[in-house]
Amino acid sequence: MNNINLKELKISTNRINILNKMGIYNLIDLISYYPYRYEIIQQKLPTVNDNRLVMELCIISGCRVFFNRRLSRLTFNAVDHDNNEYKVVIFNRHFLKNQLTLHKLITVSGKLTQPGNIVASDIKLKPINEVTGIVPVYSLKDGLTLSSFSKYIKKALTMVKIDDNMPLDYINKYHFICKNEALKYIHFPTSTNDIKKGLAYLKYEEFLNFSVTVSYIRNQRSQGTGISKNINIDQIKHFVSSFPFRLTADQNKVVNEILRDLMSDKTMYRFIQGDVGSGKTVVACIALYANFIAGFQGTMMVPTEILAKQHYRTLKNFFNDTNIKIELLTGSTSIKDRETIYENLRNGVTNIVIGTHTLFQDKVTYNNLGLVITDEQHRFGVSQRKALLNKGNQVDFMVMSATPIPRTLAIALYGDMDVSTIHTMPCGRKPVITQYIKGNSMKPILSNLKNYLSDGGQVYVICPLVEDNETLNLRSASSIAKGMSDYFEPNYHVGLLHGRLNDLEKNQIMTLFKDNQIQILVSTTVVEVGVDVKNANMMVIYNAERFGLSQLHQLRGRIGRNDQQAYCYLMSDDLSEEAQKKLTFMTTTSDGFEVSKFDLEMRGPGEILGNKQSGLPTFLVGNVFKDIHILEQSRIDAEEIIQSYFVNNQYSDYVTNVISKLDSHNDYID
Ligand code: ADP
Ligand code: MG
Repeated sequence: MNNINLKELKISTNRINILNKMGIYNLIDLISYYPYRYEIIQQKLPTVNDNRLVMELCIISGCRVFFNRRLSRLTFNAVDHDNNEYKVVIFNRHFLKNQLTLHKLITVSGKLTQPGNIVASDIKLKPINEVTGIVPVYSLKDGLTLSSFSKYIKKALTMVKIDDNMPLDYINKYHFICKNEALKYIHFPTSTNDIKKGLAYLKYEEFLNFSVTVSYIRNQRSQGTGISKNINIDQIKHFVSSFPFRLTADQNKVVNEILRDLMSDKTMYRFIQGDVGSGKTVVACIALYANFIAGFQGTMMVPTEILAKQHYRTLKNFFNDTNIKIELLTGSTSIKDRETIYENLRNGVTNIVIGTHTLFQDKVTYNNLGLVITDEQHRFGVSQRKALLNKGNQVDFMVMSATPIPRTLAIALYGDMDVSTIHTMPCGRKPVITQYIKGNSMKPILSNLKNYLSDGGQVYVICPLVEDNETLNLRSASSIAKGMSDYFEPNYHVGLLHGRLNDLEKNQIMTLFKDNQIQILVSTTVVEVGVDVKNANMMVIYNAERFGLSQLHQLRGRIGRNDQQAYCYLMSDDLSEEAQKKLTFMTTTSDGFEVSKFDLEMRGPGEILGNKQSGLPTFLVGNVFKDIHILEQSRIDAEEIIQSYFVNNQYSDYVTNVISKLDSHNDYID
């Protein structure tokens, strides 16, 4: 495909800026900006589906427009054919005000948030019989309208020469239409069949590109040889026997897999998945120990400073009776300490270092690095995997993920690595009891909370925002913390933790909470990943509907980390069907596999776009659960393609193209 600058569309710089904000910088980006949903408008009235509705309404009150910072809100009242009255709200369409005149018949698409309340996503100034058809819905910014956007795409499609990159053999095998056509069908469908055909092409193409990369990496990898480490198993057994618990069967199994990798002359490249609290950190600790007694340095890289500090303490504890020298290296390590750590890593005095991404700066050189572990939620797309591969084949490598997925999917997504799974929780662990509270008020749970505190327990209170936000009508962490301290101080201490604090402040608060100087920790999602305070076994989550399911599960994983019964209260005043379904589901299972499955099934492909919370690779059009059969087929085909590529140099244009794209900035799965 030839790429062309947006200027060639002959549109204003203002419009170009808006497109840039949407991540569109050239015509290829533009035509690859897919609708995340389609509205199928029929004459049947009204169409209510999944709380989404498209209906004809008659305006019965003048519009009012409110501005709040950069957001505008337009509201009016209207009635349907049965004279039911609705209050309609639409954001960022203040310019429609003068056209929304009294008694006008309009077509509103949107969502019924509460009986009689519609939040509209689009308003057509025509009766419904004039707007029937299939309307693509894009996520557009700053008042850019669908009709302008569609015009740009139409023009772009005539200007860009669109080639099929996929090998012809495979296009023929599945009787695909050509890519040019597929794009037209996606942006301008005239029937649902068009959409189907277009999507079939684009999904397969996206998955095949991905699978070819994974397959390529695996093949490259199997050609190199690593170091076979000398490990005394009795020494490992002795070390493990010093733990205050026995390993679960799954932990044992995974530890054995790791030891076998370390001792073999193959480089370890292993993906370890297990639910929050299943004991991955303990497994990592044993791996680091084994690597140490074989004479090598090891590192563990985690996404946040809080987590780095916590892992550092945990590991230090486990290594108490050994002569391992372990260090913590993060952004807030003083320059003086840092120099010492660099020096000690260089000359091999330090055996293990825990840290954030600082660990991989150029300044950090290791004496004899043997094992790298990265912990949960590190965005670790295929391009990073390939980069690591290029760093050399000697260092053993392990990724730990707390978003557990079914094995078939794990193989499709991480097929370049060996996959280990920890299914079972340490015994004695009771599942967290989760309750759904309709409304954002503490009242229904206040007595439980008081009892729990007076028994010496500690509580997390989670809120989606730091400050109040009137337009969204959400309670913020600051105001809730204030309310809590008015009520509970001085008997109990309340702390406030959020992302705007600097790392030092965050650490102080976390330390106070850990030491039980703070009993109620009000926080945004900064506590999400990996935090471990055993005495805190109650969690209250405000506006729970605002969080993704996997995220709620991660949050909930902060409690119930010992043999005490833990309680999680999900509070929400959002009565939409979607919110109720989601939160009710959370009360029915504590199994992370189930949660991630349901989570991905519930979201449409577009909603996954840009959502990095799940920790899974994201695709533009494909949905890894709903389209698993396409993903699997692409894996099989990719395997064939890569074999032919390595053996006969077949498909080399395609393979080179896909692999070279990886080296550039835009990793399509990241
Ligand atoms: P993860 O990293 O998977 O979230 P951790 O390794 O942090 O889990 O373990 C969670 C908690 O359970 C920790 O406090 C840990 O000490 C404890 N734990 C780990 N393995 C076991 C086990 N086999 N038996 C009892 N407790 C365990
Ligand atoms: Mg962990």
